[in-house]
Amino acid sequence: MTQFSNPATEGGALVLFSGGQDSTTCLAWALKRFATVETIGFSYGQRHAVEMDCRAPIRTALASTALGPDHIVDLTTAISGLGQTAMTADIAIEMGESGLPNTFVPGRNLLFLTCAAAIAYRRGLKRIVTGVCETDYSGYPDCRDDTIKAMQLALNLGMERRFVLETPLMWLDKAATWAMAADLGGTALVDIIRERTHSCYLGDRTHRHPWGYGCGTCPACQLRAQGWSRWTAASGFTEIIR
Ligand code: ZN
Repeated sequence: MTQFSNPATEGGALVLFSGGQDSTTCLAWALKRFATVETIGFSYGQRHAVEMDCRAPIRTALASTALGPDHIVDLTTAISGLGQTAMTADIAIEMGESGLPNTFVPGRNLLFLTCAAAIAYRRGLKRIVTGVCETDYSGYPDCRDDTIKAMQLALNLGMERRFVLETPLMWLDKAATWAMAADLGGTALVDIIRERTHSCYLGDRTHRHPWGYGCGTCPACQLRAQGWSRWTAASGFTEIIR
């Protein structure tokens, strides 16, 4: 009777949870759908390592009985050994000749998904949830839908499993991601994301904006701020609660 089971509740899920807006929205999304949800986070020498400190308070704030263990994987030596980028070294963020910003860490998301699948394999979790998006993004090729579909195939062949890689944000822009948070958890979840999540590439948590903390000028801050502006203008959110 497997074919009649509800795929939305089948098996547990492992969420790639960085402590940012997108992965927090994905975690809330998964907690609404799956009976067991575990999280995985990666240290990789990121300049905004402060995001790792945001993770535990966010998990606590989400306060769900479905939430299982958190897994931390340290890839600092592995990723720093592959070369410097503006994501992991104190160099200016700029566009490279390839048309990609120099915050792109080649292979990073592929490595993350491989590690996540290894944990999911060991934990018996079927679904792997990641907040990658190709609609409103920085041009990273490892965030594309085709990349994720190819990784799902490779992981299932390589590990002899039937993992499902879930990408609930793939076709949403940043305004729609804010709207999804509001749909999932109302103003409480929107406020958790504003106050507790971290997106800024420079690790700035001293400057507070309507959309949360950050330098306000790096690509991650700009995307987050623009999405917030578009969503609040469309929804009237700020007029309701502020
Ligand atoms: Zn920033």
